[in-house]
Amino acid sequence: MEDLEDHPALAVASSAARAHLDGLRDRRVGPTAPAARLDGFSGPLPADGSAPEDVVARLVAAAGPGLVASSGPRYFGYVVGGTLEAAMAADWLASAWDQVAGLEVMSPAAAAAEEAAGPWLLELLGLPEGSSYGFPTGAQMANFTALATARHAVLARSGWDVEADGLQGAPPVQVVLGGQAHATVAQALRLVGLGSRPDVAASDDQGRMLPGELERVLRRDRGPVIVCAQAGNVNTGAFDPFAEIADLCSAAGAWLHVDGAFGLWAGASDRLRPLVEGVDRADSWATDCHKWLNVPYDGAFVATRDPDSHVAAMSWEAPYVVPGAGRDPYRYVPEASRRARGFAVWAALVQLGRRGVADLVDRSCGHALRFATSLADADPGVEVLNDVVLNQVLVRFDGSDDVTRAVVAGVQDAGEAWLGGSTWDGRAVMRISVSGWMTTAEDVDRTVASVLAALAAARG
Ligand SMILES: *Cc1c(COP(=O)(O)O)cnc(C)c1O
Repeated sequence: MEDLEDHPALAVASSAARAHLDGLRDRRVGPTAPAARLDGFSGPLPADGSAPEDVVARLVAAAGPGLVASSGPRYFGYVVGGTLEAAMAADWLASAWDQVAGLEVMSPAAAAAEEAAGPWLLELLGLPEGSSYGFPTGAQMANFTALATARHAVLARSGWDVEADGLQGAPPVQVVLGGQAHATVAQALRLVGLGSRPDVAASDDQGRMLPGELERVLRRDRGPVIVCAQAGNVNTGAFDPFAEIADLCSAAGAWLHVDGAFGLWAGASDRLRPLVEGVDRADSWATDCHKWLNVPYDGAFVATRDPDSHVAAMSWEAPYVVPGAGRDPYRYVPEASRRARGFAVWAALVQLGRRGVADLVDRSCGHALRFATSLADADPGVEVLNDVVLNQVLVRFDGSDDVTRAVVAGVQDAGEAWLGGSTWDGRAVMRISVSGWMTTAEDVDRTVASVLAALAAARG
């Protein structure tokens, strides 16, 4: 850190970052204090300023008890990736360089990183070459971007210019979601003005959309239709049957969008690729980079088969905005001025390479299977409710909501690992999600031991 003498705040940040990273394997996984007790942040607005290094030291002290080791090896809550070292370092540089990644003229470097990473991601995930793409903040905004593109395209086919005239008086758009679509797809639909009462094509016991149900609800008058399918259910990890859904969508002239926040990454693995068979026939795709690609929060990816509609939905002009010679990133995302997220994505892909991504995905799924078998074999009261096809495991204990919730709370309290709860089919479950590069088989075993200890305690 000798080089940082002129930047003492960066030296403090760097050593705090190293300490955090070095402690990730062994520290308590959950926080030690809720936000309300993080007093180091509170107090009156300072009247006078402070030296930057003092500010950072104070931040480190204030945040400490409220930090979660969610990028560490035993965090299995929600669906959360860790951070690859190259991606993290690239993201630090994105701050140090402070590039504005909206326009090529404001940062040719940021534009070039996206132009490299975009086609690489299409190739890696098995999506059509030449698709348009953008790098929004998360899968919710990737879904938003894709659905705004879909809205443009299906209404344009009905002769309606939604960007000019909005939705008032527009031909009604039918929107169909699977019975187990992610909540952020519904939120994205609300944001694009398509409401929160889509038609629902029921799904099976794993959360896969039933093509027969889609066929039953699809309108047949050739009016505008958007269908949202899913790669990777947030509870079970299950995949919708894309080939059958794509057939129905093309027959109905519907736009097919796929929310694949983490599941699309199955396409990077030779072993898992059959799960996404037919997904390349969709019209748009949303995925996260901060989940399975292990870039730091935040970063996502959206792609569409229809570049003109994508640009029509997202782009705008102003006299002072100078078009770049190449691709201007802002034309493909909801934001104008924006962080140079492409650096971290590019760095993660270069660090791992195609084989490294496949290995990360395969390893995570192997750990999920190890969780399922170890837990099921350890105790007759453990029931694994889902087919473990990907990185998600749903576990129920003693057939009881109360015991199951107590086990989840017990594991969180103990601090050895962190995982969350959910409900599936009306019953309480413990969710396990594996998507971080740091997790080893030993971390799985330590977590299983913590779960079994919590189960014994819950039985009292
Ligand atoms: C996580 C997730 C989302 C939302 O992603 P954000 O990155 O939180 O915006 C959407 N769909 C699925 C299936 C997810 O797992």
